[in-house]
Amino acid sequence: MSPVGLRASATAPAKTNLALHVGDPTPDGYHPLETLFIAVDVRETVTAAINTHVARRGSGVAVTVSPAPGSEYAEMIQSGAARLSDIPLDDSNLAVRAALAVCAAHGGNPGIELRIDKAVPVAGGMGGGSADAAAALVAVDALLAKHLDQPRLGNHRLMSLGADLGADVPFMNLGGMAEGRGKGDDLRAVESTNQLHLVFVPQDQGLSTPAVFREWDRASRGTQVQVASAQPNPLNPALVRAAAAGDAPGVATWVRNDLQSPALELLPELATLLNHGVDLGALAGWISGSGPTVCFLAESADAAEDLVKGLRREHRHAFSTSGPVEGAQLIPEWGTI
Ligand code: ATP
Repeated sequence: MSPVGLRASATAPAKTNLALHVGDPTPDGYHPLETLFIAVDVRETVTAAINTHVARRGSGVAVTVSPAPGSEYAEMIQSGAARLSDIPLDDSNLAVRAALAVCAAHGGNPGIELRIDKAVPVAGGMGGGSADAAAALVAVDALLAKHLDQPRLGNHRLMSLGADLGADVPFMNLGGMAEGRGKGDDLRAVESTNQLHLVFVPQDQGLSTPAVFREWDRASRGTQVQVASAQPNPLNPALVRAAAAGDAPGVATWVRNDLQSPALELLPELATLLNHGVDLGALAGWISGSGPTVCFLAESADAAEDLVKGLRREHRHAFSTSGPVEGAQLIPEWGTI
């Protein structure tokens, strides 16, 4: 038997969508999507440890969250632009749900303590909660395999457990760049040869994903004669080719997010920011996922840094990053707490 206190850590990336096409909701309320995901180099870290005291409390999984040192999110917390209290610490936390799913699959829960080092702004359209789930799947799988002396479930099984937790979770395990269909979890990897340089501008207030979809539904009811449920528009092959080649001007031409209009309807001031980033030299700007984080595409890493400096002069929280990057990864070190 492994010592009590054994721990394992994993990281998982945030994402943005270079295309997000939305269809009419199905009877179960989900909107069919056609999307092009890119995993970006802002990573959540989840550490899982065996703690037998936790086994006797509630579901047997406990979680704490801290801002990742040096991250823009940590600066946002420090300046009062974000609050850790926005993140649930009960069994609705996606990392806790992921840990419970892995325990069920391994057939045992010895008591698990999770720590999330958060770098991805909350409710920002960058999939931070999904990244926490993906990292927790990997960390808890490795931990339980060692503790119970069983084989690991492996990435394929973890991705299928992840699909039950949230539509973006399997992509956070896969990483890179991928076409997503259905709820976003029917994935086809896109091989890419070059990096794209991006700048993210998180906002002080989050936007609820269901509220943005409701606004989309409201606006499309007003503009369409509904004879049959509309499917999402297919992905534009020119965009997929440009993204795979790291052709930033090509991506800037074809990038498209159907949820941008409803997000702007809910937060109209984001339109000024989008124009401002382009005035400062961005090739394109869009709302990331369901927002409200704004994402800009830059010509190069240096251009991205210049853009960050320009946006910070306006007292904005802004940071540069690049993608595609790898999906959830185990940190190859073991220890005890
Ligand atoms: P998406 O792009 O997948 O719609 P998002 O990036 O907009 O997600 P998240 O940061 O994933 O948003 O959080 C959305 C909501 O999920 C939060 O408001 C919070 O209530 C809940 N939540 C559950 N678990 C977590 C977690 N580990 N981290 C952050 N939020 C979480």
